[in-house]
Amino acid sequence: MPEGRVIPVDQIEAASPYELRVDGARDVAESDVRAALASGDMGFLHSFTTGSAVDGPGIRVVAWTSGCMWRCQYCHNPDTWKMTNGIPVSIERASTELRKYRRGLKSMSGGLTVSGGEPLMQHRFVLKLLAAARVMGVHTTLDTNGYYGTRVTDADLQGIDLVMLDLKTWDPARHFQLVGMDNAPTHEFARRLGQLQRPVWIRYVLVPGLTDDPEDVAKTAEFAATLGVVERVDVLPFHQMGRSKWQRLGLAYPLDQTKPPTAESVERTCEIFRRAGLTAH
Ligand code: SF4
Repeated sequence: MPEGRVIPVDQIEAASPYELRVDGARDVAESDVRAALASGDMGFLHSFTTGSAVDGPGIRVVAWTSGCMWRCQYCHNPDTWKMTNGIPVSIERASTELRKYRRGLKSMSGGLTVSGGEPLMQHRFVLKLLAAARVMGVHTTLDTNGYYGTRVTDADLQGIDLVMLDLKTWDPARHFQLVGMDNAPTHEFARRLGQLQRPVWIRYVLVPGLTDDPEDVAKTAEFAATLGVVERVDVLPFHQMGRSKWQRLGLAYPLDQTKPPTAESVERTCEIFRRAGLTAH
C-alpha cells in the first residue's frame, strides 16, 4: 500500500468512539487490505481516543480497531464491523502517536488499550503495536472477545499486561443467537490465560431478557472463578447509545425496544459474580 495513500494519524483522533465513522478505507483495494493484514505493518483503526478511564487501569489511550467477526445484537459500534470502515495507519505512525502520551500515561498509572471491533481480526498489527508500547514502558491491555485467541502465542500473551475478555452469555444456543457465533473458542482462550497466569478482567454486558438469566450468569461466574486469574468483573449495563448508528447504517436494530437494566438487576448480577468469589462492579 503506497505511503502516500495513508491518512495522517492525527485525523483519526476522535472525541469519543461513538462518532460514526465508515468507509475510511473504501479506496483501499482488497488485495492491499490482505497484504496489510499479512504483514501487520499497516492496521485499520476506527479511531484513537485519549483520556479514557473505563478501558483498563488508570487513564488510557485507546486504539479502536475496525473489523469484527461477531454481530452482537447490542453492539454499540457497528461502524467497526468491516475492516474497511477503519482508516489505514502504518505501525510507525500509530507508534509515533502513542509515544506522545507515554510520560502522561505512566504518571496516571495508565497505558494503551487496543479495543474494537475485534483487535485479533488484525492480530499482527495489534501485536506489533502492543510490543511497541511495551518497549516505551507503557502498560498494555488487549480488549477482546477471545474468538481468535489461537492467533496469539503464549509468548505474546506473556508480554501483554492485561486481557479484558468479553464474556457474552454462557448457554451456547443463546450465545449463537446473541452474537452469531460459538463461544467455545472464547472459553478455550480464557482457560489458556488461566494456565499462563495472565491477569484478566471480565466484561459482561447486562441486557434485559438476553443476558440477565441468573442461572446463566452463575455458570459464567463459576467458569470465570475457576480460571484463577480474574482480577475483576465489570458488569456493564446495556444502553441505547449505539441505536442511532444502527439506524444511520440502515441496519435493523433488534434491541430497539430494549430498556437498560435497572440498578437492582445490575447489583443482583454483580452479587452472583461475588458469590463465586470474584470482585465485581
Ligand atoms: S464483539 Fe464487540 S465489536 Fe464485535 S459485534 Fe460484539 S460488541 Fe460489536
